Amino acid sequence: MQNFVFCSPTTFVFGKGTENETGAYVQKFGGTKVMIHYGSGSVVRSGLLDRVKASLDEAGIGYCELGGAQPNPRSGLVYEGIEMARREKVDFMIGLGGGSAIDSAKAIAVGVPYDGDFWDFYDDKAEPENTLPVATVVTIPAAGSEGSNSSVITHEDGMLKRGLGHESIRPVFSIMNPELTFTLPPYQTACGCADIMAHILERYLSNTTDVEMTDRLCESVLKTLIKEVPVVLEEPEHYGARANIFWAGMIAHNNSCGVGREQDWSSHQIEHELSALYDVAHGAGLAVIFPAFMKYTLKQDVQRYAQLAVRVWNCEMDFQNPEKTAREGITRFELFLKSDKRRVCAPGEQFDDLLTFLDRELVAQIIMLGPRPFFDASQHYLKNLLLQCPMFLHNSLDKQLVFVGHTINPSAERMYDFLRLPFFVLSIYLFYHKIQPFLAMPLHCVDLCP
Ligand SMILES: [Zn+2]
Repeated sequence: MQNFVFCSPTTFVFGKGTENETGAYVQKFGGTKVMIHYGSGSVVRSGLLDRVKASLDEAGIGYCELGGAQPNPRSGLVYEGIEMARREKVDFMIGLGGGSAIDSAKAIAVGVPYDGDFWDFYDDKAEPENTLPVATVVTIPAAGSEGSNSSVITHEDGMLKRGLGHESIRPVFSIMNPELTFTLPPYQTACGCADIMAHILERYLSNTTDVEMTDRLCESVLKTLIKEVPVVLEEPEHYGARANIFWAGMIAHNNSCGVGREQDWSSHQIEHELSALYDVAHGAGLAVIFPAFMKYTLKQDVQRYAQLAVRVWNCEMDFQNPEKTAREGITRFELFLKSDKRRVCAPGEQFDDLLTFLDRELVAQIIMLGPRPFFDASQHYLKNLLLQCPMFLHNSLDKQLVFVGHTINPSAERMYDFLRLPFFVLSIYLFYHKIQPFLAMPLHCVDLCP
């Protein structure tokens, strides 16, 4: 286990009717003028917004409102929110809704006291010094933003999706009433679950040894989801199952499952590019990317994958052939994600192309070039990637070129910088000498997998 510092100071107010305590908690944490930032009209229609406002009135706290945060929250609304908050002299942010509204509220909170562009924080050009306190009233178990120090925003200029991780944006308190999740449609419930599982797996698939304690925590979150998600899909108003999923979503991302171990996060990085470009649901994107990533990295640590298969997916250990057990675990995970009832992987035709494309081994190679790779992104893999580029580019011209272009963009992780120039030169060369002659021909699939 590695050295670590862990501080999770968020106060969680969990249970039925807790949204009515919002005002009292804002008072406790010193807020005098609040901005309530929310997403779609569902929090208005359900009466949740009115209940939160009533509790602020009761506590004598002033507020202004800003709605419209969309999935894959955008920079435009953040700029609007920063201006409004300054005008209204807001000193406390409330993100009301799912991860998008909360992440957007966090971006406004770092932007208000800052003289420059809030994007500097997301683009790694500056670090927040003063931040307005952020609180949340959560309605969707998925992003875990209610307990995490992170926020992900898409900049409309270039459609760049970038994350900020900083302790100042960890919420001071979060209100979690599982009843608020009763009306969540099956597709969103399933996407949220896929996201929670991914948050666990990004931590679980680690090169760090002697991490039994956090391994077991990770496994229990996964097992809880495997048990409870089918229950809520059958019976959406099952309070106990909704409550367990809600808490699992928080535990999965406040990092109690990830301390003391190297983490990967490349699957999230590649999904961010995907949803910035195609606006697919984050959980749906991860449901496609993660199994592809696992298949590719399986040989990195067969024992770890076999452990996951046995402990989480109830596979029988094949001591003669642990790889077989490991593969069986991934298959069971895929079946769980793809089963008709859960419908995570059915976001429409456009997505089918991507699915085929993401299953390709080469994409997994790009995944490996993430910032903290489970697989060591050594020269060997880099060379492999470049060697395979011609086939990659032949395979499905535009989409993949765009995709790779975004993955290896100038503001991405430093690892990509190292790759950018040779890749760019190679792309130009290939376009003129190899690709152009193919453009007139009908596209057909070249199978890259052995
Ligand atoms: Zn996520």
